Amino acid sequence: MPDNLVTHLECSLCTRKYEAGKTWNLCECGGPLLVRYDLDRLRESWSRDSFATAPNSMWRYAPALPVQNPSSIISLGEGMTPLITAKTTGKRIGSNNLLIKDEGLNPTGSFKARGLSCAISMCVELGQRKLAIPSAGNAASALAAYAAAAGLEAHIFMPNDVPQANFIECKACGVNVTLVDGLISDCGRIVAERKDKEGWYDVSTLKEPYRIEGKKTMGYEVAEQLGWKLPDAIFYPTGGGVGMIGMWKAFDEMEALGWIGKKRPKMISVQAEGCQPIVRAFNEGAARSQFWENASTVAAGLRVPKPLGDFLVLNAVRESGGTAIAVADHVLIEAGIRLATEEGMFAAPEGAACIAAAERLLAEGFLSKDDQIVIYNTGSGLKYLEAYSTRYPR
Ligand SMILES: *Cc1c(COP(=O)(O)O)cnc(C)c1O
Ligand SMILES: [Zn+2]
Repeated sequence: MPDNLVTHLECSLCTRKYEAGKTWNLCECGGPLLVRYDLDRLRESWSRDSFATAPNSMWRYAPALPVQNPSSIISLGEGMTPLITAKTTGKRIGSNNLLIKDEGLNPTGSFKARGLSCAISMCVELGQRKLAIPSAGNAASALAAYAAAAGLEAHIFMPNDVPQANFIECKACGVNVTLVDGLISDCGRIVAERKDKEGWYDVSTLKEPYRIEGKKTMGYEVAEQLGWKLPDAIFYPTGGGVGMIGMWKAFDEMEALGWIGKKRPKMISVQAEGCQPIVRAFNEGAARSQFWENASTVAAGLRVPKPLGDFLVLNAVRESGGTAIAVADHVLIEAGIRLATEEGMFAAPEGAACIAAAERLLAEGFLSKDDQIVIYNTGSGLKYLEAYSTRYPR
């Protein structure tokens, strides 16, 4: 494997540059930072042929990840999740070509493992030893696991109605857990207020630049699994939007590496009816979202009332000719149960929402039956027993 060639970090809002190999949070202007690589040079040294012998995890894309020293890598086997053909569900909702990327198979049962594996590896590399995170649940679980594996101190702030699985998992990993009477936005405020005094590094969504890098591997992986061709449409359940932003970045990087062409999938942002700031902004033609009051949904990962990187998500959706769509809680739970019945895949409500969204867009003719559709099931249904148990009282 060739070395990576990080050149600098760049603000996604004002393009101001920041030095690589240092700890950063947001740009001075408040914009999230993106890691930039010398892709022209990387193109000379890194070829798609190298994958035959590459690690069977997201670290197979290490030349396009920010870690410089392989010994900094904290891996629990994240990534290289299966891309499953969903024939029965596809047929029912009107698609001949429905694929589901099952991110529920990641460590800690969600794709948050990708982002936190990368972020924690960078904390090890840059010497950050005390970390703090506000989380709707799955980011906390992943931080807890990777911090435990790395031997770092972690402070986690979650809403007090967080799924039990996340709470127990964090406690079992031995990190400091605080339950907050409020939403992830309230948790974020507490971390922001206390971090300087406590000496914590804030690993909030998009407030540190490396979780995007981990999550972008979903974009590399889907291309590799489809023989270096991108699908016609990607459905992504959008909370903070990190995965969408990451995949969009990955597509540009792969094009610069000469691995794919110009064609992009329609990027479809899926939210819950009870918290749909991106959908509202998309429909209004706005560049940024507005805080969604009284956010409420069983799909905990989608309960983000004001995503920091909203403009990046909206850009990707619009540039790709995609759309944004919201699904009611009872509809997404029903979709999750039907998916399990038809395909044997017990999805997180966030992933299930994408099935319901695809069904609607196929019925409306926004997508056609022969379009290749990839749905990201971002987590395992096993992390959401409270949400599903309303359907199965004992
Ligand atoms: C966090 C989360 C999401 C939203 O992810 P973003 O990249 O922040 O939009 C979706 N599904 C699950 C299961 C999650 O944990
Ligand atoms: Zn800036």
